[in-house]
Amino acid sequence: STGRVFNFAAGPATLPESVILEAQAELFNYQGSGMSIMEMSHRSKEFDYVIKKAESDLRSLLSISDDYSVLFLQGGATTQFAALPLNLCASPDTTVDYIVTGSWGDKAFKEAQKYCKPNLVWSGKAEKYTNIPSFDSLQQSPDARYLHICANETIHGVEFKDYPTPANKEAVLVADMSSNFCSKPVDVSRFGLIYAGAQKNVGPSGVTVVIVRKDLIGNAQPITPVMLDYKTHADTLSLYNTPPCFAIYICGLVFADLLKQGGLVEVEKNNAKKAGMLYDTIDASGGYYVCPVEKSVRSLMNVPFTLRRSELEKTFIAEASKEGMVQLKGHRSVGGMRASIYNAMPLAGVEKLVAFMKDFQARNP
Ligand code: PMP
Repeated sequence: STGRVFNFAAGPATLPESVILEAQAELFNYQGSGMSIMEMSHRSKEFDYVIKKAESDLRSLLSISDDYSVLFLQGGATTQFAALPLNLCASPDTTVDYIVTGSWGDKAFKEAQKYCKPNLVWSGKAEKYTNIPSFDSLQQSPDARYLHICANETIHGVEFKDYPTPANKEAVLVADMSSNFCSKPVDVSRFGLIYAGAQKNVGPSGVTVVIVRKDLIGNAQPITPVMLDYKTHADTLSLYNTPPCFAIYICGLVFADLLKQGGLVEVEKNNAKKAGMLYDTIDASGGYYVCPVEKSVRSLMNVPFTLRRSELEKTFIAEASKEGMVQLKGHRSVGGMRASIYNAMPLAGVEKLVAFMKDFQARNP
């Protein structure tokens, strides 16, 4: 055995074994340069190739047109909660709309209150974030600059399967795709901006990908810090200052791997199969396992569930861990269990979990 476990963590999360091994092989002496990527100048010809290849592979994966810039930034998705209104709103009086389907969307909404006038179009809080509104009933602001969604709520396991259209022509759709980035094809042209922390589906922590329509760049509010201004990074191909080189390098390996797998259509098929197995097991358990999320919007990436006999949850998590399935504890804010099954979680990991769940139920009726 390699000693590797099935890691169901929500992020940082499991990465493809082939990518880890490739990085290991290149770690000591990157392609004959005599040093590792970590030790190398971000202005070197080797790193120039790495970052450009990462960008072009990502563009291929998501069919990103030349109308968009792809930026590799720091500060996590959390920093984007502030960067968005700073860049997209002409002034602190600008109106924007937020649909809040979980706690990440709520954090984004609250941060925006410092830099513009966000309007809460819809919140799922009263129903404990278990659904997504129907789009026709939304009361959007007539003058909103953008409409923000969190495409996949990592903690609550609620995922948009389709996207709303902003009500007025001046507004653009903005999405936090941190936890379902590159898990399925997405029509980027429907969005003004997409952002994603890498550490779930595409790499280690430390880099955040921003895909932004070029005409939205260059109008930041005057108080915007230079590091948060998209123009700074778009003008310099994300090399204004020292970028998170190693994280970008790993993302590049992951993008290449996803292309090798046949691209995001294939990737989505695998993800649907894995998630389907898990939800089917939950739903066929006769109420022994419960997933509170409305069926049509259940996430393919993060599967939260509880045990009817909640006193057994600790045992469930401990026994699973002993069998090499780790990090199944739910987020501290909601409790229960959560299986994060990102792209890199092998089918074998989900098969093992499902078998364990059935066995656990049989042993502890
Ligand atoms: N948005 C979503 C959907 C997330 O899952 C997370 C992290 N769990 C964040 C934002 C915050 O990301 P970061 O830690 O990179 O700031």
